[in-house]
Amino acid sequence: MEKDKKHLIFDLDDTLWDFQQNSLDTLLELFDTYNLGVKGVSATAFINAFKEVNNNLWDQFDHGQVTRADIRRERFPRVFKKLNIELNGIAMHMQDSFMSTCSAKPKLVAGVFDVLEKFKSKYQFHILSNGFDEIQFIKIKAGGLAPYFGKVITSGRAGFRKPEPEIFDFALNEIEAPKEECIMIGDNPLSDIEGAHSYGMDQIYYNVHKKKCAVEPTHTINQMDELLDIL
Ligand SMILES: [Mg+2]
Repeated sequence: MEKDKKHLIFDLDDTLWDFQQNSLDTLLELFDTYNLGVKGVSATAFINAFKEVNNNLWDQFDHGQVTRADIRRERFPRVFKKLNIELNGIAMHMQDSFMSTCSAKPKLVAGVFDVLEKFKSKYQFHILSNGFDEIQFIKIKAGGLAPYFGKVITSGRAGFRKPEPEIFDFALNEIEAPKEECIMIGDNPLSDIEGAHSYGMDQIYYNVHKKKCAVEPTHTINQMDELLDIL
């Protein structure tokens, strides 16, 4: 179906590496390590508060309203405020533990390995992520993705982030291919899909969060294994 394509460019978080599941596993560990139960908070309340705060912060980040440093500084204090508990003395410590523990988790989005195995000789795989090398490479290694991927381009290294066209230019320059030979696969309707769309690159929207996309994606899938039929 995609005869002219030679390069599959994947987003990392929640497209290949299962941020949702890995962060959930990490939060359950933090809940125990920091004894949050004695504060009268349930694990479910803690996780739900984190998800809400984190999603809001990343939405703001995608719209250029907050920086990554803001997210790191604000995330846990906001969670504690939402839960009405006083723990701000350990917020930064918890943030550091969250980052180091979570990025070392191995879980991948279901179906990813089947896709990589089926298409590894047909396409070259690359990663284009709004993240930083030092964190994203830990995730790539922890998930066992490293052997499959050619170029790994992060916004931290490129100096631009999706949906900015400059990061797509940067990526294609490294991949050494025209955009017509590439397809962007990602879960974020703004940074991955609108970004690639306005750049003029085909896209496959992995609609796992059930978010509306402002443009009509080239393809939309709800599960990774649907790629087996599209590509
Ligand atoms: Mg993502």
